[in-house]
Amino acid sequence: MTYTSPISPGYSWYEDTVGERPPYPALDGDLRVDVAVIGGGFTGLSAAAHLAKAGVNVALIEQHRFGDGASGRNGGQLGTGQRGGLDEMEAAWGWTRAKALFDLAEEAKAHLLEFAETNAIDIDYQPGQLSVAHKKRYVGDYRRYADYMRERAGYQHLTFMDERETAERLGSTRYFGGMRDAGTGHINPMKLVIGTARVAAAAGAKLFEGTASTGIASSGGKVRVTTPHGTITADKALIAVNAYGGDLEPVSAAHVMPIGSFIGATVPLGSTSDILPGGEAVDDSRFVVRYFRRVKNGALLFGGREIYNINDPKDIPDAIRRQIAEVYPQLKDVEITHSWGGFVGITVPRKPFVREVMPNVISAGGYSGHGVMLSNFMGKLYAETVAGNRDRLKLFEELKIPAFPGGRRFRSPLLFLALSWFALRDRF
Ligand SMILES: Cc1cc2nc3c(=O)[nH]c(=O)nc-3n(C[C@H](O)[C@H](O)[C@H](O)COP(=O)(O)OP(=O)(O)OC[C@H]3O[C@@H](n4cnc5c(N)ncnc54)[C@H](O)[C@@H]3O)c2cc1C
Repeated sequence: MTYTSPISPGYSWYEDTVGERPPYPALDGDLRVDVAVIGGGFTGLSAAAHLAKAGVNVALIEQHRFGDGASGRNGGQLGTGQRGGLDEMEAAWGWTRAKALFDLAEEAKAHLLEFAETNAIDIDYQPGQLSVAHKKRYVGDYRRYADYMRERAGYQHLTFMDERETAERLGSTRYFGGMRDAGTGHINPMKLVIGTARVAAAAGAKLFEGTASTGIASSGGKVRVTTPHGTITADKALIAVNAYGGDLEPVSAAHVMPIGSFIGATVPLGSTSDILPGGEAVDDSRFVVRYFRRVKNGALLFGGREIYNINDPKDIPDAIRRQIAEVYPQLKDVEITHSWGGFVGITVPRKPFVREVMPNVISAGGYSGHGVMLSNFMGKLYAETVAGNRDRLKLFEELKIPAFPGGRRFRSPLLFLALSWFALRDRF
């Protein structure tokens, strides 16, 4: 029987490509460990793998199955830097901090690829990323940014594309120009989830699926994580629940907000198709970003973030097909074989939220649609912190991410209004 995530809508193409996933047991009994990790996505699994490899006694609990949140179901695009441009970060925080955050993201990218390679995880890596302007008036910004990145940051992989080159690389005349980033690429995220869990377990991490944390408390130098069938007592804990944490921990919930994002996969398009002949992934200039790529079997995976009824995945294929047809009119009747969604954890400034939310308990998430490489790296930075070096994690902690206005009750309607406004603006 095909397994579907109980917390994210639809059956994903990724789930189909990996077949039966290795199961992990549920926690049954009490445990005493050095570190407890809550959440089995990239952040939690990577932390468990790095901690266990460093000889730390670590237990990780996941309420359902690993990757059932965002990590096993995303667009797979690594990107470069943090969400938003380096120039924006420089304007907001000055060059030194902006460049340090950019360099950290470069390291995150290299780390992901090296981790996969050294641990023999086949993540279906394909190089190349195109960022494209859906309005003519944005083209100049792309040209300036490519120059800035080369001249100011020394990042040589980014080149400006005029309208003709953009059309050739996309196989579509819908966009007006953009940039090609030859220093990044895209992956099958579910394969990385499975591989990271394997590495963590092999290194001695105690991994549990089907085990929800029902509470977390810190007192007297000890952290207690409760679950329906056992308690984990630890010296430290990492909350890695991102957009899926609900009310587990109020500070994280106030700072990281879930928004739905949806993807459809087409039938394989065949090797003669002129769509994305270079195999790059694409993201566009909309505020409600469209992102797409062809995967190794030739299918087009196309994502767009809209407000749908999250509980009704049957709406997704038609909506995605309409978006595909705007870029590739020849695919207006294409068969969508899989459609699915998940929740992206966003923060107000679209930068990661990392904070010690109670003594010895750090929460990390809110990568704002840019977490494929950052969340994996965050796990490594957390392991470094446990080993006594908090310098690099601090770069994120010091961002002082503000809470969403409106509190838990009113922030969704407020965000809905804001997103609807920006989505409207995307059209004009
Ligand atoms: C459709 C979609 C497309 C995306 N595309 C991209 C992209 O192309 N590039 C990019 O960089 N990023 C993308 N992202 C974002 C990226 O996937 C995330 O930033 C990243 O996966 C976050 O990993 P995580 O481990 O922090 O969170 P998650 O993977 O969401 O994991 C959190 C886990 O915590 C578990 N959990 C929650 N509460 C509890 C509890 N009480 N007890 C136990 N477990 C609990 C959940 O079940 C879940 O498995 C996308 C996200 C989505 C949804």
